[in-house]
Amino acid sequence: MRLVFLGAPGVGKGTQAEMVSAKYGIPKISTGDLLRAAVAQKTPLGLEAKQFMDRGDLVPDKVVIGLVEEKTNAAECAKGFILDGFPRTVPQADTLTGMLAKKGVSLDRVVYFVIPREEVISRLSGRRSCSNCPAVYHVEFVPPKQEGVCDDCGGTLIQRSDDQKETVESRLNVYEEQTSPLIQYYREKNLLVELNGSGAVEDVQGRLVALLSAS
Ligand code: AMP
Repeated sequence: MRLVFLGAPGVGKGTQAEMVSAKYGIPKISTGDLLRAAVAQKTPLGLEAKQFMDRGDLVPDKVVIGLVEEKTNAAECAKGFILDGFPRTVPQADTLTGMLAKKGVSLDRVVYFVIPREEVISRLSGRRSCSNCPAVYHVEFVPPKQEGVCDDCGGTLIQRSDDQKETVESRLNVYEEQTSPLIQYYREKNLLVELNGSGAVEDVQGRLVALLSAS
């Protein structure tokens, strides 16, 4: 199963991708996670990406395309994958189509997460991320058992610098301008399925699993 999770920052794509990954045994590829790891390790790619991420801008296409190409070519992706946060521009989407066609495969579904803008802002401002593993929490909706500590690995929870108010606004604007055209792009290819992403994590998961089983 080859899936793309599409939607504004903060709609819950990453959290749901973790769950689908565990349930179906296919890896999640998150360009945001890969870029943050490169930033943390201060690799040349990470140093280049950081300036864009700090402003809430997109990292240049060629950088993220290289990362995704490397990951999707790995043996663990032979049975499929979930792309979380990629593609984010039409050129990225075109490149992905070409990359898969070369292997003689194609996407099965693009799941478009729909939630109101006010809910996105409240989710992002309350989001806390583990500094050590991919786990994500919310101060109000998905609190950890112990404040500031990751349930999964005991790591320290932090607020991502780009989840702060000023950057959130610009990320949402970047999404509207550069990423939302992909809704129509994938609708025209008959790949788009809409998911109501509002409400509790478990409820969204139930709707998502039903939708994936039906297709
Ligand atoms: P995310 O964790 O998906 O919200 O991504 C965090 C940041 O990483 C974004 O605001 C961008 O700066 C960068 N990023 C992640 N994925 C992409 C992508 N596909 N294209 C360009 N920039 C990306």
